[in-house]
Amino acid sequence: MSLRRTKIIATIGPASESPTTLRELLLAGVNIVRINMSHGTKERHKQVIDNVRKLAAELKLAIAILIDLQGPKIRIAKFIDGSVHLQAGDEIVIDPTCPDDMGDNKRVGVDYKTLASDLQPGDQLLLDDGRILFEVTKIEDMAIVCQVKLGGTLSDNKGLNRVGGGLSAAALTDKDKQDIKFAAENEAEYVAVSFPRAAEDISYARDLLQAAGSKAGIIAKIERVEAVEDLISIIDAADAVMVARGDLGVELGFAELPAVQKRIIENCRLLNKAVITATQMMESMLTNTIPTRAEVTDVANAVLEGSDAVMLSAETASGQYPVQVVAAMAEVCLAAERQSLRGLVQSQTMEREFNRVDEAIAMAAIYISDHLDVSAIVALTESGLTPLLLSRACAEIPIYGVTSNKLARGKMALYRGVYPIDFDIRDFERWEVIRAVITELAAHNILQQGERVIITRGDLMGASVSANSLKIVTVDTA
Ligand code: PGA
Ligand code: MN
Repeated sequence: MSLRRTKIIATIGPASESPTTLRELLLAGVNIVRINMSHGTKERHKQVIDNVRKLAAELKLAIAILIDLQGPKIRIAKFIDGSVHLQAGDEIVIDPTCPDDMGDNKRVGVDYKTLASDLQPGDQLLLDDGRILFEVTKIEDMAIVCQVKLGGTLSDNKGLNRVGGGLSAAALTDKDKQDIKFAAENEAEYVAVSFPRAAEDISYARDLLQAAGSKAGIIAKIERVEAVEDLISIIDAADAVMVARGDLGVELGFAELPAVQKRIIENCRLLNKAVITATQMMESMLTNTIPTRAEVTDVANAVLEGSDAVMLSAETASGQYPVQVVAAMAEVCLAAERQSLRGLVQSQTMEREFNRVDEAIAMAAIYISDHLDVSAIVALTESGLTPLLLSRACAEIPIYGVTSNKLARGKMALYRGVYPIDFDIRDFERWEVIRAVITELAAHNILQQGERVIITRGDLMGASVSANSLKIVTVDTA
């Protein structure tokens, strides 16, 4: 049986939150459960998290929880009738003084009351992920007079983006700050920051998380033009990055997405960060039992570009076939992984100089695994960092991240080709640790008698010392 290297993130919603469906999703291959704080209540989210933790323990799976903050997504208010039909040429005013549920086809409210100060006549506004287009014709006080350019049905609370970006809402809203506390209380392994504009937004989120007692990994969602312009420093500030193609495609224009996606993934790998490709990956499976050929190719390309994980949004949250879509995605990932990523490593990292010992150890391990018959890399780790570095260098063989640290195991659930193993080496004398780990992995049929494996470890395990040694051993449990 070959192990899938690319990880799958599934967003949970009404279509998938029952314990029965959650179990099926985990068994179909979900590695990370995403809770979208833009929808639902905390009580329901907590229920999902508790159920996932219980199921993961029962099924002995390393599953991480990702809390995705709503962020300052600007939304129009509600309509008297729930929606309106707009035609090209119609005039409509986005008016912050319009009562929240009193919109009609002439006037609608907006949650971001000072939106007008970020806009000028001539600006293009996209609503509902780009399905509807307005052009600003004039600003009167704080009211934004628009002409409909692309019409259609516009319903309550749809999102609004300015083409080209440049809206100044702060990255973390009061709700996000409350939700960061929620993430900490529920020991989420990852928190995603929506709409960051710069690295400071990420460090601010990290400060808040730490103040709440959490060491969760922070995922920067690249979904604003400003974030693409400041890409490197945002990647540096975050632990992982999401190519958030939904909003990004609106701000940048969809045609720019494929090239930007490639650039984001490449830079994440170079900077030793994990990267997720997200949104509309298998959208047609909202209502169909199989994906389109274009979707299959999109997922496969995300894998070949080096994504750590591919993400499902509405497909699993509200679609008709949540389990089938995970199974389809897993199958596509596995098939795409049969093609090597080796070229990517050689051109990006093999020529590099290292200033860190653990990075040098990781690259040495990868070099050996490419030139000697070894069947796995076993990394004894405290934080999960060595497995991350090994995974950046694209191992073609499994990387087992062995640790007793629960948070580290959860974080490793995201890393491509890394399989977290719960094992406490502190139960053993230093000289017997390697033998004990090998025996444990062999007992679970993860390693076979006679196989050669690479072991990496630090000197003072348990005291957060990163890897500084490498050993090649043959599995011998006789
Ligand atoms: P969202 O983020 O699903 O929270 O909008 C992802 C995206 O914009 O692609
Ligand atoms: Mn988004």
